[in-house]
Amino acid sequence: MTTIGSDRLEKDTKMILTGACYDCGGRCVIKVHVKDGVAVRVETDNGEEPQLRACARGRALRRQVYSPERLRFPQKRVGQRGEAKFERVSWDEALDEVASELIRVKQTYGAKAILAFTLSGGVGTLHNGNMTVRQLLSSFGGYTSAWGDDSAEGAVFAARATYGTLTNGNTRDDLVNSQLIILWGLNPATSIYSTNTSLYLVQAKEAGARVVLVDPRYTNTAALLADQWIPIRPGTDTAVMAAMAYVMISENLHDQRFLDKYTLGFDRFRDYVTGLEDGITKTPAWAEAKSGVPADTIVALARQYAASKPAALIPGFAPGRSAFGEQFHRMASTLAAMTGNIGIYGGGAAGFERPLVGPMIPPGFSKYFEGGPYEERLRQLDVPRRLHKQPHACHLWDFILKGTAGGYATDLKMAYIAFANPLNQLPNIKKGIEALKKLEFIVVHEQFMTPTARFADILLPVTAAWERNDFARPWLGGPYFLYMNKAIEPLEDVKSDLEICRELAARLGIHNPFLEMSEEEAIRQLVQAMEDVMPEVIDYQEFKQKGVHKIKRPGPVLSFKRQIEDPDNNPFPTLSGKIEIYSQLIADLNNPNIPPIPKHIDTWEGPEDLLAKKYPLQLMTVHQKNRAHSCFDNNPLLRELEQQSLCISSKDAKSRGIKDGEAVMVFNDRGETIVRARVTECIMPGIVSLGEGAWYSPDSEGRDHAGSPNILTRDSYAPGGAFPFNTALVEVEKA
Ligand code: SF4
Repeated sequence: MTTIGSDRLEKDTKMILTGACYDCGGRCVIKVHVKDGVAVRVETDNGEEPQLRACARGRALRRQVYSPERLRFPQKRVGQRGEAKFERVSWDEALDEVASELIRVKQTYGAKAILAFTLSGGVGTLHNGNMTVRQLLSSFGGYTSAWGDDSAEGAVFAARATYGTLTNGNTRDDLVNSQLIILWGLNPATSIYSTNTSLYLVQAKEAGARVVLVDPRYTNTAALLADQWIPIRPGTDTAVMAAMAYVMISENLHDQRFLDKYTLGFDRFRDYVTGLEDGITKTPAWAEAKSGVPADTIVALARQYAASKPAALIPGFAPGRSAFGEQFHRMASTLAAMTGNIGIYGGGAAGFERPLVGPMIPPGFSKYFEGGPYEERLRQLDVPRRLHKQPHACHLWDFILKGTAGGYATDLKMAYIAFANPLNQLPNIKKGIEALKKLEFIVVHEQFMTPTARFADILLPVTAAWERNDFARPWLGGPYFLYMNKAIEPLEDVKSDLEICRELAARLGIHNPFLEMSEEEAIRQLVQAMEDVMPEVIDYQEFKQKGVHKIKRPGPVLSFKRQIEDPDNNPFPTLSGKIEIYSQLIADLNNPNIPPIPKHIDTWEGPEDLLAKKYPLQLMTVHQKNRAHSCFDNNPLLRELEQQSLCISSKDAKSRGIKDGEAVMVFNDRGETIVRARVTECIMPGIVSLGEGAWYSPDSEGRDHAGSPNILTRDSYAPGGAFPFNTALVEVEKA
């Protein structure tokens, strides 16, 4: 165990260097003071700059690890599914039953009847779904999994189509070179979006950058950073961007030289924007009617973006989590090309934002539904294959309920769930309940009795982060790595996910070298396989001892610098070798709802949907300070920091007779939730928001009392795969 002495330590106390690693995109330094084997205090980074300081969630980890609600022993269901009535069983009994169910289901229906569902509840390099459950099931003969990145599938699709790669951002320290920064639908002051994003934005502002925030809500980021806040209706971002393109074209502000040299298909896009294609000119007045953004504001923003070079447009993932979310990201990249900001200091590609990602270890793929080299899949558009061979995660409940009779690829009989809380985090909770009740067997790995865990037949308690070793790197690839040292011994009767899979592999007669390695060996192998890590981590033991390695670089790293400086020798990794404003891969899909050039498409469950007469408010599901998705929802310290509430404008509250702090019911045809109202001027009229991740807490009629938003969201997905968490119509009334 790594220990470091410190004069700030109390007598007989050791400091263990570990990390916080949650799906906020950040990875932060955590120093745990341990006395007599007990974590007594938490500190964060106070070393060399840039410090990697934990947010409130990381600092509340002690309450998480020592929570009286931790699951402490294996359990077997004795009540109805979902009732959470369990009895204690031994590990042998629990694992024997899981192994025998895996064998029974495989022999009876084939391995593809087994659903492997893992998500971002574990984002360490070793302790995650790919390295544990999927390794196990892959060696066992395969499994079915769902496709789609809940947070960012719209951005993933758009980045693949437009740039041919997900590696298309500048490192955040480059923001200090920007004259103008447009934050479009992101709130890093709360949701982090990679550690230190806010720090670099503050530095950019101090260096003179103007910051504009486009968002339906006046957020912490607006308060901290924005020179201008532009409120906008959800689902209309692409219309406003198209109108910005119109202003640039009609005033000849766009960079035609850049477009001619580096892009494909601008002429077709121009025909769309100017109305030659469909007879509708995408004027600022046209966009104002849809978005609520005044035409003058759109004109001014377009002129600013075209004139303020270099300028960084950063498209958040939230506008892309919508019915046609991929269009937003494709349109943002098109604007970046029109202004010639790609591949230059202070600019940016307005793409997936990831600047540097080294090779990753292939997860345990299933022979049934996934194939091809991992890196190839990462670089491919890959939509046709995914659409036909795997269920999209938003259709998972439908897939389980209908199976082959409903046209799906198989009939699922068993779910193996780890690092995930899908009942809570996928759309349409009531349908999810029906689906989970239909399965023959469910095994869940968990630390807590989450809404999903309540549906387990066998519930296996797993270690918390401080109870195991791991390696971590942030979303944007660096510039640092963390070794997350184990700080304390695990609770008496819990095991790590890796140990569980190893013990199941032995019962199933599986030989998988990876699962047979010790934790330390496995981490070392993973680290050694990362080509961008190894030159940095010359002395592995020293790295482990220090817990953090901050990469020294002479300056920011830009994506596509080589392509811009020497295009003849450095084509973009697309089919054409250019930035594809027009994508032949998309055209080949032959789907009017995924046009080959970016377009605004009026959204279902938007203001123009007939359903808006019955449910007139647009629901956004947003990140809060107190949770990372559904992690930390049961942490009492963090609940004090931010309570679950429905943000509603004073105008909408007044017309419904709702006062601040009163209980309200939010509802649509899919479900109802009761939650306290926060009446505010910080959200546009016509829009309400709920924090995502609150644990569904039903009464006897299935009505939620926790403000859990997925009781209201629709289990559909955008044609390119974006999850529509921000596309739902609701009504609100006093409870
Ligand atoms: S939630 Fe994210 S930012 Fe906060 S401590 Fe954890 S990893 Fe760091």
